Amino acid sequence: MGPGRWLLPVRLAARLGPLFRFAMSAGRYAPSPSGALHMGSLLAALGSYLQARGQGARWLLRIDDLDTPRVVAGADRRILDALTVFGFRWDGDVLYQSARRAAYACALDALLATGRAFECGCTRREAQAGVKGIEGPIYPGTCRDGLPPGRLSRSLRLRVDESPLCFVDAIQGRHCQILSRDIGDFVIRRADGIAAYQLATVLDDAHQGVSEVVRGADLLSSTPRQMALQRNLGLPVLSYGHLPVLVDADGQKLGKSRGALGLSADAIADQLWCCLDLLGQNPPDTIRDAAVPRVMRWAIDNWNIELVPRVQTLDAQVYQRSSSQRSGFAQ
Ligand SMILES: [Zn+2]
Repeated sequence: MGPGRWLLPVRLAARLGPLFRFAMSAGRYAPSPSGALHMGSLLAALGSYLQARGQGARWLLRIDDLDTPRVVAGADRRILDALTVFGFRWDGDVLYQSARRAAYACALDALLATGRAFECGCTRREAQAGVKGIEGPIYPGTCRDGLPPGRLSRSLRLRVDESPLCFVDAIQGRHCQILSRDIGDFVIRRADGIAAYQLATVLDDAHQGVSEVVRGADLLSSTPRQMALQRNLGLPVLSYGHLPVLVDADGQKLGKSRGALGLSADAIADQLWCCLDLLGQNPPDTIRDAAVPRVMRWAIDNWNIELVPRVQTLDAQVYQRSSSQRSGFAQ
């Protein structure tokens, strides 16, 4: 086949570029480099990977290294290495959020200039004097109409309203919030000058062309805030699926710092099998000892998001018992 045969499709694709981008969906995984990958993060990575690859979509990686006090040197490399060993293959370059500060500053300026955001001079204690919302106290609105005399700007907040924000989550079903009632005007630039998680996430999802976000259900209640930012910034609204997260006996999400359920290099297929099992995919026993590419192939070919348990948490202990009996798991 001569090179000329490609010319027409290439030209067409270039002309229809925006349309192609719209049609081609992409998923992403965005770990923070604050520790090693563990069973909880593997579960989230796998759910996001299979939802993208199962549709033939791209899967992108982003390192959430904005919260510099929490960043552990070298953790990004270790996460990428672990993902590779577990059979993940990502598209394009890894995006580091620390390289995107200028874009965040630009968006923050625009939100401030149009009055969609306002400067807040309150200390953490003052900001927490409001009534209780679903994630802590609701900002009492002290600086909404301008900084009180003598106060200096500390953080930037998005002005929210009482319109309901609803979406249908691919796993958890319909979810609605009224931001003014449930959350309040929320911080988009922290007092230490760092762009807040919500703002950076929304800008980077749009920048990377992400169309569907699959992540842990601990972020379910963040989604309406991200939708509000998408609206205010004129960005596309995305599809969402929130996976159950692994929790310990106290109901706490498995933390990287707790060291629970670390991953073992000895039984990779087995750990993938266990994640598939937790995600409701009914993996056959025959792939439990198979080579990693074969396990991943089976997982991609058979992925069905409708089988994922429609719960927000899964008890890690149940899993820990069955897996340690079998593979002598590193814990
Ligand atoms: Zn304030």
